[in-house]
Amino acid sequence: MLDPNKIKSRFPIFSDSENTDLVFLDNASTTQKPDVVVEKLNDFYSRYNANVHRGIYRIGELATMEYESVRKKIAGFINAKSEKNIVFTKGTTESINLVAYSWARKNLSPGDEILVTEMEHHSNLVPWQLAAQQTGATLRYIPITEAGELDLSDLEKYLNSKTKLVAIVHQSNILGTINPVKKIIDLAHNVGAKVLIDGAQYITHASLNVDELDCDFYAFSGHKMMGPTGVGVLYAKQVLLEEMDPFLSGGDMILSVSMEKSTWNDIPYKFEAGTPNIAQVIGLGAAIQFIEDTGIDKIDEFITSLTKTAITKLQSVRGLRIYGHGPSSDSTSVISFNLADIHPHDVAQFLDMDNIAVRAGHHCTQPVMLKYNISSTVRASLYIYNTPQDIERLVGSLQKTINFMS
Ligand code: PMP
Repeated sequence: MLDPNKIKSRFPIFSDSENTDLVFLDNASTTQKPDVVVEKLNDFYSRYNANVHRGIYRIGELATMEYESVRKKIAGFINAKSEKNIVFTKGTTESINLVAYSWARKNLSPGDEILVTEMEHHSNLVPWQLAAQQTGATLRYIPITEAGELDLSDLEKYLNSKTKLVAIVHQSNILGTINPVKKIIDLAHNVGAKVLIDGAQYITHASLNVDELDCDFYAFSGHKMMGPTGVGVLYAKQVLLEEMDPFLSGGDMILSVSMEKSTWNDIPYKFEAGTPNIAQVIGLGAAIQFIEDTGIDKIDEFITSLTKTAITKLQSVRGLRIYGHGPSSDSTSVISFNLADIHPHDVAQFLDMDNIAVRAGHHCTQPVMLKYNISSTVRASLYIYNTPQDIERLVGSLQKTINFMS
């Protein structure tokens, strides 16, 4: 079993004199960075800072080699067939927008349907609302149950010959629910629909095999898996990337430019216009190496076990209601709750006074709020440097809050 205290010592932020007491439970929002990621960024800027795919001088070639080696690493990490399937973006949001602009606008027409779910992050919802408005397609929603799971009882009704795209979240950033994406992908393919998976939360702790899943697109962010901000990935099947038009245009994504027209670079470069986030990509490579050295299965096992402990302890707090995480649910890492009728922002502020960082709000999932008829929740989300003592501190502080308020 992974030792969180040993892991924690690898994260410089927790040794900062102002943070030695910090309990960081906002990992679904962004994660802290281990020493190897911070050092890698420092190393790039101090030793071989140069643009990629351009200079033929030594440090330019070194930067390009490091940058491209991360593409290969990511392909291996998610079991993609080739590094050509890996497009670097700014994050999950940009990856989804890329598909919404370059694939959806070309392939959707009036009468077509896009199927999403009621538990999507706004990043996997608003781009489809816009694409639907502009193409005349219709957006349909798979509902969620009171237990915070997808209600798949009528899935055949939602999936039909009009369905052209299914866009679903692998793991909910508010309920922690892990969705049965393989089953949905297979059924969607039976009606000829393409499937995009929003993997922003899932990939941070669980092993992923895109080849086995057979998804058409998979989107994720580097900063939620210990990498830097400003870098994300779109995995896409090669045939789709070949067919799609560019998203952003400019330098590096072209093969030739004349006064009249331009032709496009090979994939995946066709989708990477301008100077990319070089340091961030290289930093993400170090984060993935850290995950591989730690062991993704160990990470998953540890987080799932800590989540179970946290849920049991939270349930003992008077007036606390947890959303999702029913007895039969496949869920982990993210726990949303409300504490009696105390406003979530007040709860978060009380916790902050004890140096415990949680998130309060709608978590960019307003349809879930509507479903439960609430405006916001408190969210504690766990990662590998959280310890059982962190959970004790959270529960103790919540108990203090409810006692004070009543
Ligand atoms: N989808 C999910 C499930 C998320 O949790 C998030 C981040 N909260 C996003 C998409 C958007 O990610 P980013 O802000 O890194 O683009």
